[in-house]
Amino acid sequence: MADDIIFDSANGYKGESHVATTNACKLCTPLGATLAFKGVEGAVPFLHGSQGCATYMRRYIISHFREPMDIASSALGEKNAIYGGGPNLKKGLLNAMQKYGAGVVGVATTCLTETIGDDVARILAEFREEFSDLPLAEVVHVSTPSYSGTHMDGFHGAVKALADQLCVEKSEATGRVNIMPGLVSPADIRHLREICREFGLTPTILPDYSETLDGPALLEYENIPSGGTKLADIRAMGGSAASIECGRAITTQETAGTSLRDRFGVPLHRLGLPLGLRETDSLFAALKEISGRETPRELALERGRYIDALVDGHKYVSGMRAVVYGEEDLVIGMTSFLAEIGVKPVLVATGAKNRNVAGHIKAACGDLLREEPIVRENVDFFDIVEEAQTLAPDILVGHSKGQRAARDWNIPLLRVGFPIHDRFGGQRLLHVGYRGAQNLFDRLVNLVLEKKQTDSDIGYGYL
Ligand code: SF4
Repeated sequence: MADDIIFDSANGYKGESHVATTNACKLCTPLGATLAFKGVEGAVPFLHGSQGCATYMRRYIISHFREPMDIASSALGEKNAIYGGGPNLKKGLLNAMQKYGAGVVGVATTCLTETIGDDVARILAEFREEFSDLPLAEVVHVSTPSYSGTHMDGFHGAVKALADQLCVEKSEATGRVNIMPGLVSPADIRHLREICREFGLTPTILPDYSETLDGPALLEYENIPSGGTKLADIRAMGGSAASIECGRAITTQETAGTSLRDRFGVPLHRLGLPLGLRETDSLFAALKEISGRETPRELALERGRYIDALVDGHKYVSGMRAVVYGEEDLVIGMTSFLAEIGVKPVLVATGAKNRNVAGHIKAACGDLLREEPIVRENVDFFDIVEEAQTLAPDILVGHSKGQRAARDWNIPLLRVGFPIHDRFGGQRLLHVGYRGAQNLFDRLVNLVLEKKQTDSDIGYGYL
């Protein structure tokens, strides 16, 4: 990390005080919001700010999902930084609706518009009044100053904004279950839907980018990809039988789940990300309670096969030392998964701050951890590498940004989460449920075996 720089007004530069970030272990806040908005049917994510923000985010998201990712922008310039971005925002919204055919526009602010203090709610009210003679799409907005948060704040903020601003009255009872899974992969979303259906439940998953960010090849280009949570289903979320919200780190925050609970009395189950056995058991317990059904046989078999795999494979991974990094909820869930397969997490790091990650790890792991890992919040990759290299890790667990350290230390990297820029199929990685745990375990064991084989002079054929 860059050194602190102290500036003395009388004598100029003196020493060190400002701490700069070197290779952040978090992403830009509105980027998370655009991902969430992308999971709504007919929605166009819209950044109120300069063009470069949208370009950066599109580039970043496309290289993980390998799908088109259009993000509209109010394309502010220098003049707007002084006079405000209202006129550009209104013009951009009309374009998104009329030229793109958006049914929903998800507006997220950027560092620029937060700094100049644009009152987006007021601009949107003016917009609705000025163009009240036109058939306007729904506009949802969320405040996402990137200098004070991470992409996860943007993501959860956008999900809450969708629930708050689109589900505004109690609907008839639908018997559905609201699932707010957090930032998981499209494959994870598909599997969660499958699990709910096996329990006889119809889920409203918010957001659902399982098709919009991992769709089929088409002969004709779609301006707005098919799929996403239907607007009608979001409007009816207040009539659901229950909500399930995944992510231990958000349990102290106001979220979509708390909003639906407080306004419409929808019972809320707040769980960890269903990674590994215990956290998935908690999800299944909630689904059993909501549905009144026992775990369906196919899913029970998956659990049994996973435990069988642990019996067969624990000898390869037991006692290994792991460094885990990434989003707060992902690192909590991955630490729990690693602890239950016998791997020893020695360092758990995230770019988020004030999330009580250490406390949540304790709650998720219970008595599984013989020794608590070092937990660091608000760190960048400079910090992580500096700390990790004193801990002699055997494996790194996180997204692609750990690749350089893994190569330097000649240890494997188990790629999980977002972004995966240096491998193919990041959007199809399955993490959640017993099937996801099985996947993670198989991949982890095979990384260990591959290293053993590669490092060996004679190259074992049998491992
Ligand atoms: S200026 Fe702010 S909002 Fe724009 S890309 Fe950079 S961090 Fe994100």
